[in-house]
Amino acid sequence: MSFNELGLSAALLRAVQKQGYNTPTPVQSRAIPAILEGGDIMAAAQTGTGKTAGFTLPLLQQLSDGERPPVRAPRALVLTPTRELAAQVQESVRTYGRELSLKSTVIFGGVGMNPQITTLRRGVDIVVATPGRLLDHCRQGNVDLSHIEILVLDEADRMLDMGFIHDIKKIMKLLPEQRQNLLFSATFSSEIRRLANALMDSPRQIEVARRNTAAEKVTQVVHPVSRAAKRSLLSKLIRDGDWKQVLVFSRTKHGANRLARQLEADGIAAQAIHGNKSQTQRTRALSLFKQNKLRVLVGTDIAARGLDIDQLPHVVNFDLPHVPEDYVHRIGRTGRAGHGGHAVSLVSADEFKLLHGIEKLLGNRIEQSIVPGFEPDPRERPEPIRKQGAKRRGSRSNSSASRRHRPGSGRRPDKRKIGQR
Ligand code: AMP
Repeated sequence: MSFNELGLSAALLRAVQKQGYNTPTPVQSRAIPAILEGGDIMAAAQTGTGKTAGFTLPLLQQLSDGERPPVRAPRALVLTPTRELAAQVQESVRTYGRELSLKSTVIFGGVGMNPQITTLRRGVDIVVATPGRLLDHCRQGNVDLSHIEILVLDEADRMLDMGFIHDIKKIMKLLPEQRQNLLFSATFSSEIRRLANALMDSPRQIEVARRNTAAEKVTQVVHPVSRAAKRSLLSKLIRDGDWKQVLVFSRTKHGANRLARQLEADGIAAQAIHGNKSQTQRTRALSLFKQNKLRVLVGTDIAARGLDIDQLPHVVNFDLPHVPEDYVHRIGRTGRAGHGGHAVSLVSADEFKLLHGIEKLLGNRIEQSIVPGFEPDPRERPEPIRKQGAKRRGSRSNSSASRRHRPGSGRRPDKRKIGQR
């Protein structure tokens, strides 16, 4: 199938060609014609499947074909879970819509309200936003959502995980009843189906990639290693392999900061990216990384979610995630849209339970290889894994708790941390 067969206008086809895309991805070839027909859709598609163009292209076409309301009020709204994803989606809207006279803006928290108010008041056609900040603007009367024709919920599963359901419901109440709804989610969990039922009328379902397709394109390896030796092993791997662009996942913000500092001390340019960093710091770090001026970006799951970095060659799990699905999301940063990738996990005695959970989800075992000089200490005992924000236990209870604790058996980490909006 070619892009010409999808019903897109010449202006959009030129934009696609300019991006160098020859063939639509599976989600694009199914979603684009379905969206152009005007019905509601729910699509199960992960980051890396080309889903952004899958909804952005037909959305632009619908708006440029349709009639403008008498006032310049937003006609399309895209909600995303994170600031980074919002910024990337708007970037796609701008890229693909460069020949169209549609205006778009991105709205997220962590930056000043005033410039956003000015842009909104001047009038835009497309708003890409995270839910919390958008609601703030709605409450202040800075934006009128009563002309929205198309609503997109991008990475809806993540939005639910992050506790945005109430904000989403409040936003729904401000939208006209008559509209087209597009829901994109990595999985169709029962929670997502409930949301879809509340939101739309018999949506067309599009399921293109199996949950772990991303994982299949990526060469994965586990290096068993002692906890204390992880950092020097990482420095060695980066140096020996001459890795130029590495995304490293840390479970906690504090761990991400510490690791970035230690890598810097080893002479490897690194910065941390997480919810406690200001938007300016995050944008700057990401931009340096994309330009290959920063070798290592150390991020937490939420901060790294949705980062659109083309053909990222290396992803490292400095810590394994608590939730097996997060492993798939993490390694989805590499090996995107048909390119191979390389994912390395440094696994200490604490984390083998987590590793088994991940292998169960993937349906296969990940190759293990011990790096000479970094053999794990056989005497190292599993210790409880502290989660983001958890308090250190007192030393007395610690020893007995550590023996009793089974890594991965605790509560799911609270993914919605303050400052993520
Ligand atoms: P997404 O799933 O939207 O995050 O897109 C993943 C990556 O695939 C992005 O870097 C896009 O630029 C790229 N991409 C999207 N559509 C295509 C296509 N048809 N051919 C090649 N690359 C694409």
